[in-house]
Parts: sequence; C-alpha cells; structure tokens
Amino acid sequence: MAAPAVRMTDTKPAANRAPDPGPTPMMAQYIEIKAANPGSLLFYRMGDFYELFFRDAEIASRALGIVLTKRGKHAGDDIPMCGVPVERSDDYLHRLIAQGHRVAVCEQTEEPSEAKKRGPKSVVRRAVVRLVTPGTITEDRLLDPARANLLLAVGRRRVSESEFAYGLAALDISTGRFSLNEVRAADLPGALARHDPREIVLSDAIHADPALARLWQELPAAVTPLAQAELEPATAERRIREFYGVATLDGFGSFSRAELAAAGAALLYVERTQIGARPALQPPAREAGGSTLAIDAATRANLELTRTLSGERTGSLLDAIDRTVSASGARLLAEHLAGPLTDVGAILRRQEAVAFLVEDGALRRALRDALARAPDIARALSRVGLGRAGPRDLAALRDGLDAAVALAERLSLAALPADLGALRDTLGEADPSLAEVLHAALADELPLNRRDGNFVRAGYHPEIDEARLLGQDSRKVIAGLQARYAEETGCRTLRIKHNNQLGYFIEVPQAVGEACLKGVLRETFVHRQTMIDAMRFTSVELGDLESRIAGASDRATALEAQVFEDLAGRVMAQAAGIARVADALAALDVAASHAELAVELDWSRPLVDDGLAFAVEGGRHPVVEAALRRRGEPFIANACDLSGEGRGRIRLVTGPNMGGKSTFLRQNALIAVLAQMGAFVPASRAHLGLVDRLFSRVGAADDLARGQSTFMVEMVETAAILNQASRRSLVILDEIGRGTATFDGLSIAWACLEHLHEVNACRALFATHFHELTALGERLPRLDNATLKVAEHKGEVVFLHEVVPGTAERSYGLQVARLAGLPAAVVTRAGAILKGLEKAERSRPGRPKIDDLPLFAAIAPPEPPPAEPDDGLGAALDAIDPDSLTPREALDALYRLKRDRAARG
Ligand code: ATP
Repeated sequence: MAAPAVRMTDTKPAANRAPDPGPTPMMAQYIEIKAANPGSLLFYRMGDFYELFFRDAEIASRALGIVLTKRGKHAGDDIPMCGVPVERSDDYLHRLIAQGHRVAVCEQTEEPSEAKKRGPKSVVRRAVVRLVTPGTITEDRLLDPARANLLLAVGRRRVSESEFAYGLAALDISTGRFSLNEVRAADLPGALARHDPREIVLSDAIHADPALARLWQELPAAVTPLAQAELEPATAERRIREFYGVATLDGFGSFSRAELAAAGAALLYVERTQIGARPALQPPAREAGGSTLAIDAATRANLELTRTLSGERTGSLLDAIDRTVSASGARLLAEHLAGPLTDVGAILRRQEAVAFLVEDGALRRALRDALARAPDIARALSRVGLGRAGPRDLAALRDGLDAAVALAERLSLAALPADLGALRDTLGEADPSLAEVLHAALADELPLNRRDGNFVRAGYHPEIDEARLLGQDSRKVIAGLQARYAEETGCRTLRIKHNNQLGYFIEVPQAVGEACLKGVLRETFVHRQTMIDAMRFTSVELGDLESRIAGASDRATALEAQVFEDLAGRVMAQAAGIARVADALAALDVAASHAELAVELDWSRPLVDDGLAFAVEGGRHPVVEAALRRRGEPFIANACDLSGEGRGRIRLVTGPNMGGKSTFLRQNALIAVLAQMGAFVPASRAHLGLVDRLFSRVGAADDLARGQSTFMVEMVETAAILNQASRRSLVILDEIGRGTATFDGLSIAWACLEHLHEVNACRALFATHFHELTALGERLPRLDNATLKVAEHKGEVVFLHEVVPGTAERSYGLQVARLAGLPAAVVTRAGAILKGLEKAERSRPGRPKIDDLPLFAAIAPPEPPPAEPDDGLGAALDAIDPDSLTPREALDALYRLKRDRAARG
C-alpha cells in the first residue's frame, strides 16, 4: 500500500502577494502564526469554532466535506474560510489525521476582555498549543484501542566505509512506552514491519539517502524528516538527559550512537508537537540484541500475522488467536506476535504461566472477569501527564487500581510460576490509598470534560459543597421570586429566564409588559427588551441574585479545577508504578488469552529447546480451521517432521491443486511463531528447536506500484531467503518458479532446492507442481517427498487433505478448473489438448526427463569459498588487541587493514 505521506500544506497563504492596504489585525495575527507552522493545517480558535483560512480552508473543506465560505478580503481577493465546532473537533481531527494531514491547534490564550483592555482594536492573544500528527495522538476517540500508536524515530551510525547500522526508537506517547534497538541495514525493512509505526521521524539525510528512498515511500506510515543539524548524537544525548532530568544515561543502560540519535529525534519531535506539555514517558529501555525471531516484511505479510494481504485484521493469525478481554492486552498480544522470542528461558517462563492458567479454569475465569472490567489505564495515565485528561480518565485510573489490587489478592496462591508471581507482585504494588482518594473525590456520574464541572463528589470538599448550595439556593429563590412577581403583576405566565446575552430576565406577554412600564410596577421592573409578543425586564433583586449565582458557580468551577489538579498531581507522583501496573494487567490478559484459546481449541504446549528439531503431530492451521468450523467442515490434522539430521530436514510437497499444500506449509510456520511467542500451538504434540529466522515465499503477487512484475517479486523474495537463511532458520517456499516459462522455472526451483539443501542446510518445506523435482529425493540425502492424498470417485476428484510420504502423479488442474466454473467446452477442449501433449511427451525422445538433465555433473553443490591466501592480514590482525581499543581506534584500525589490503592489490 502506498504511504499516506504527511501532506505539506501551503505555508504562505497569500502572504507573499502584494501587500494590501492592510490585513485586519486578526488576519495579520493569523498569517504570522500560519507562517510559523509550515506543513500543518492551522485550526485557528475563534470562540466556539476552529476556523481555517486560505488554502487550509480549501483542503479541509474537501477532506471533511464541509462548506467553504468567505470572510473579508485579503490583497483584494475573498478569503476562503471553513470551520469546525470545538465541541466536535475530535471527529474532524480524526478524519484529517487518517488522511495523512497534520494539524496545528491554535488556542486563545487570554479572555477577550483582557484584549479589550489593551484598546478597542486589540486582537485576543493566540498561540499554537499542540501539533496533532498520526504518531503523537493521545485521545481515545482518535486511537485504535487494540493497536499501539507508535512513533518510530530512526538514527544511524557508520559501521564501515559503505555500511550503516540503524538505531530505532519506538515511542508510544499514548502509553509512555519507549524502547530502543539497533539493526543492520539489511534488517531495517523487517524491523520497520515489526514495529508497524503510524509515523516515522528521521533526519533529512537518512530521508534523502537514495538507497532507502523506496522504503519510506512504501511504508503505510506518515514520514516526517527533521533537520540533520538538530539530531547530532551529542545534542541527542543532552536532550535525553534533560528530558528525564538525569546527569547521565548510565542508569538506563548503554546505547549505541545510532540508538541515541534515534531517541533524541523522538524526544525532539515530542517536544515540537506537544509544545509545553510533557508526556510521562518511561525511560528508554534497550531491547536485547537478537531477542526476537527475525521475520522479514514479505514473510510477515505472506503469513498474514497481524493483518491479511488486503490489510484487514479479520482473517489474520492475530484475529484468530485473540482472546484478550482488555484493549491493553490486545495491544500486547499484537506486539508479542510481531516479535516472537528467541530466548528459550523466556519462552518457557511464558509457557509456564499459560499452562498454569490452562489447569486452573476457575482462576482463569476469575482473572478474565476482573481484567474485562479494568479500564485502559496506560492511555488514561498518558493523558493525565499531558494535561489532556478528563474526570473519566481519573475514574479509569481509580477502577484500574482497584482491579489490580483485587487481581493481586486473587493471585495470592502458594505455588505460582515465576512470570505469574512477578505479575502478582507488580499488581500488589498498586497503591490502594490513591484509589481511595479517587473514590472519595469523584462523583458517580462524570462529565467528559473537566470544564463541565460537577465531577467532585458531594462531601469531598466543603467549600465546593458550600458554593454549590449557594447556587442551588439561589435557584430556589429565583423560583420564589418568579411566583411573587407573578402575583404582583397578576400574570400567571410570567417567567424568569436566562440567556447568554441578557443573563437572567423577567419575561411577560406584551400587554402585561405595557403595564409594568407604568405605575407602581415601574418601581420594581426595569425594561430591557421588547419582542414581537413579549417584553423583558430585570429588577434590582434579580440582578443581586444573578451575581450571587454567577459568583457561586465560578467559585465552584475554580475549586473543582483545583481538586482536579491535586488529583492529577497525586496520580503523576506514582506514574512509574501505575505504568508498571498497566503493563502487568496487559501481560496477565495475554497469558490468560493463550490459556483460554488452548482450552477452547484443544491446543497443546510445545516442547521448545535449543536443538534443531521440528516435529509436529496433529498440526492444524488456526485460521483455515476456524473458517472451516464456521462452515461446519472438519479440518484434517497433519504431522510434519523436519528434525532429521539424515532424511527429512527438507520436505518437498507435491499434490493436486486445492489439495492443501499451502495450508500445510503455512500452518507449520505459524506453529513456530506461536511456540516462540510462548503460546500453546494447534497440534496434538510439538517439539521445536528454536528458529532464528523465519522465511516464507508464498503465492504470487504483482507489485506494480513498486514497478515489479510477479516473477521479479518472487525472485527478490527468494534471493533474500537463499542469501540469509541459516541452519537454524525455517523456510517455507511455495511454488517457486511458476511465474516464468516451464523450463526456466523448473531449473530455478531445482537450483534453489539444492542451495537450501547444501548451503543453507535449514529446515524447509517446499511445495511445487514441478513433479520432476521429486526425483531429487533419491539424490539429496536430507530431502524427503510428501504429497497430499486424493481419491477419485466416479471420475470426480476428492481432496482428502492428508499429507503422506510419497509423490504426486498429477495436479488435477483440469478437475479444479471445472470445479471453479470454467466453461464445460473449455474444460473438454483442455482435456483433449492435455492427452495430446502427454502422448507427444511419451513418444518424444528429446523432451528432457530428470535423469537426462545434467543434474550433478554441471550442478555440483556449491563449494564453500576457497580460503584466501594470507597476505599479511593475519599478522596485522594478531597485532591488534581489541579489548584495549576505543571504538574510534577500532574503526581506524579497520580502515587501516582495508587500506593495506587494497595497497597489496
Ligand atoms: P494450489 O496448488 O491450487 O495452490 P493448495 O494445494 O496449495 O492448492 P490450499 O490452498 O492449501 O491448497 O488449500 C485449498 C483449500 O483446501 C483450503 O482453502 C481449505 O478450504 C482446504 N484445506 C486445505 N487443507 C485442509 C485440511 N488440512 N483440512 C481440511 N481442509 C483443508
């Protein structure tokens, strides 16, 4: 999918046209603010609306489908304008951000009355308080609850004359998560795909690097370059220290220069977009090197791990396994699925927790019930930190802390496995006294915005109660006053009303109004307004009351605001602890989700170790099985053993179209992913030696947007596999070589198989319709043949979907074509042609059979590269003591070695 790159909007709205006799003072202010915020649509606050002008207005009216109007003139032309009500601005922001725009929100920073004091023509002061961009949003209504909202910053350092290493800083402002890691250039696309960010920030130098240009264009994320000058490592380190208020970063861990550059860029962007507000970010934590199963972008997409090839969550593995009951659990599950582990110890610890919850059904159900009621405290906490929270966020924190305390109690069992025990301890750290204060302070019914008031519980703050009472009393007095005036005027329909223009007023019908203007009534009633059929008055008593009511309500509002600040302060004082509790709730939800799934679908705990086994019994494809289950059809379980040092490390799968080859291949890859996530797997038994890299090349797809044909895409992906797969890797290759002429394709598939067998020596499944390749089973010692069983019944083919040893005779392509609805005449004609071709093939001596092809003579297994003659390099290397070198000296030494070698020719 093409990236919805951030749209740069016109930064100089008509400002550089010939100067007008004078823009109005307000327009002059607008133009100045707009010029200072290039690249963003400016939401300019005017009363209850955010207004957009000039080109911004044209863009927004088109993007939002709202009316484009005009307001005044500038340089002789009408000024286009459109606006959105502040009340509903979140919805409009959401739509603009989704379309790749950035928005600068400009607020009034003083009351209009203040401005008036400076003179009648003074404009209310305004300032941009925040830039809203895809990677920096925090509002629930703008966020997908089940998806992390990552901002990914990219930095780099030179590791050789021609190579860089890339530092990645993944930051989720909506939850405070902040992690760093470094990858080699070759692994950058895979790492970007794993993080799946909403927005990427990077230096303009990296952005302009032609070697990476395509990468940024293709990512489904907004890409925002920043000036290189602001991102130098020294500045970056200082920025991080200042942000966290620490003298040194040693306490956070040790980071590479590329990681520091990335972290610095992330924080710079946070400062730039959040203006004065400071999100409560966790300190940057370094991901352990190589701690996740490497899955490149193509494999990730082909296996449809977190979304399908068409981009939807429904139909993905994530969708099929998600039994979480909370939004934060769903986000963590997606994160675990995107980065399965490669540390056996950590995998086993996760498994232990799942197994415990599988066994104890009552505990699992109780935990899931409590988790389902626990709100998303990570995101609420982040909004409190940014000063963007409402009373409901405080209530979410209150309820989340309650849930944590209750869960910790429920988990106070003697023999918990290590991971669950650690989660219980973290949940137990939740401070019940903070929850108590929030209980005492917050009312039962809460408004969305704190401005709306009335969120402090009666009895919490005596002065608020007093002010409220005054307000209520005054209302009672108004009702009494209305009754008295009705009596005095003899008008039963007299009403005391309120509007923004007049405040409180007395309204009577026209005839009664005339009477009030005369005689004794005139002493009480002061005329304010004459309407068509009514007259409006005020009175001294009413005026007094009004100021008492307004005073009481202003006082209550001010006191409530103080209470809010106090509560927010108490929350932020415990921010780090609350963030840990939030993480623990999510982790508990994920463990319980795996357990629920295992029980529901009868999945088993795989044996995972450091060996090279891959033995699955009764394996199933979780997504295909679920789809068949919905149709009431059974899924046929299949075994797969790639463990053998002797036969069977590579399995060549032939079989009819629609037989189930692709399903079989994918299900084994998915089982490896699930096992390394620490989950149970859809199999009756499984023994899996750790996989370091997972590769899959499945199906054929054009990538015309990238300018690559079907065959080119196929070859690029295959090349990546053959160049990178190690002995520890798992490779799934489906129908290599089908996108070109038969002999070209057959030769390529053949050579690839040999390379996998001889050079990569990895565990692999290779599906093909080139039945000729099955003969390789006799010559390549570690290759085994398997096929999908079919039965023929009265001329109809019946797919049994059972994987058995052996080879397929035919592909039954014609039968499948008939099932697909190809016109009968075409199928009959194809049948006749096929017979003819087969006959000719049998009688034509020239057609090569596998034995006729120059298999092993010409295509001997690739030799390992010959050892280089020692050209003095060894001696030079021996002279170096790596432990005594600084990084700079090491780099110099490396360059020296290369230079010496080049000089020797
Ligand atoms: P082709 O060679 O045409 O690409 P294939 O052999 O790769 O076909 P799949 O795409 O894996 O076949 O499977 C085709 C359909 O068969 C699936 O969509 C599914 O409905 C069904 N199927 C596959 N495997 C099984 C199974 N183990 N049990 C039940 N049904 C299955």
